[in-house]
Amino acid sequence: MNLLKDFKNPVLARKLSAAIAETVGDRPFSIMEVCGGQTHTIYKYRLREMLPPNLRLVSGPGCPVCVTPIEYIDKAVFLALEKGASIYTFGDLVRVPGTMMSLEKAQAEGADVQPVYSPFQSLQAAKANPERHVVFLGIGFETTLPGVGLVIREAQRSGVENFSVLLSAKRVPPVLDALLSSGKAEIDGFITPGHVTSIIGTKAYDALCETYRVPMVVGGFEPLDLLGAVHLLAGELAGGGTRNLNAYSRASSKEGNVKAQQVMEEVFEEKDDELRGLGVIPKAGYGIRESFAEFDADRRFDIVTNSREPKGCICGEILCGIKAPEDCPLFGAICTPDAPVGSCMVSNEGACNAAYLFRD
Ligand code: SF4
Repeated sequence: MNLLKDFKNPVLARKLSAAIAETVGDRPFSIMEVCGGQTHTIYKYRLREMLPPNLRLVSGPGCPVCVTPIEYIDKAVFLALEKGASIYTFGDLVRVPGTMMSLEKAQAEGADVQPVYSPFQSLQAAKANPERHVVFLGIGFETTLPGVGLVIREAQRSGVENFSVLLSAKRVPPVLDALLSSGKAEIDGFITPGHVTSIIGTKAYDALCETYRVPMVVGGFEPLDLLGAVHLLAGELAGGGTRNLNAYSRASSKEGNVKAQQVMEEVFEEKDDELRGLGVIPKAGYGIRESFAEFDADRRFDIVTNSREPKGCICGEILCGIKAPEDCPLFGAICTPDAPVGSCMVSNEGACNAAYLFRD
């Protein structure tokens, strides 16, 4: 099987599209795709146009850059400019506007900001430059956290003293719990994120399906992955089912990645945490455990910020599934990928970015 080609097969896509329409009938339903990577595929391959008009796809809160609070960007800028730290980060984050400036702007003002593909590159840089303090920007959901945990463990094992992590790590199940209990968005079923689920396992959603009587299906990131997930959800919705199903079994299992879970358990602890636009959610984030406190940039530095959300940006409502990017008056006029106002326009997992890139 050729994964790149076969999961985009247009003949199979049309068959699935017809099967979805037949299964769902004519009652209106809303399905949320939780992950920003899924949102990107949905826009890029125009999957909404392959669904019956009564089946609505709504983008959710699973873009890590989008849900990172603006205060986090301000902290990173403060560490770079006021504390002289070298900032190592995944590329997307560099362009997210902070209250006063982005990391990209801070770089233009002399800050040392380095994009990396792996947290281990930041530890190598710390070892190679003992005169500098290196801060890795550890953002993301459960997918990226095991790698950050491993690097913190390795920093402690190898006695590196000039390295820390500014952490803003989030947990998907409590965020979905908060969305469902708030009743803010009317969602009938969820496509849960494939990458996150490959770490935490499908069992992580069992309680949500039971408590809220809502079906969930793990979805991948190719067009047929998503249409397959929608097909399974259509069956549940049409028949009043509330099962927790898996349409991404080539990467996700019931138990998930147990070794990765052990690393997360060893290095991090759950905590109440803020997501941009969603506020503080119980147990929605991770903090660094006391036993690794010396690698926690928040504990290590006295960080001062005075953060304010950008005026007019409705990222928060988009992340909750209440509004669509096109509902934002700034969309495409004042806010574009070249001149983003909010985080949802920066990241290629952001709904505004996808809506802009693949607009008519
Ligand atoms: Fe925010 Fe820009 Fe999206 Fe509007 S278009 S919600 S300003 S990111």
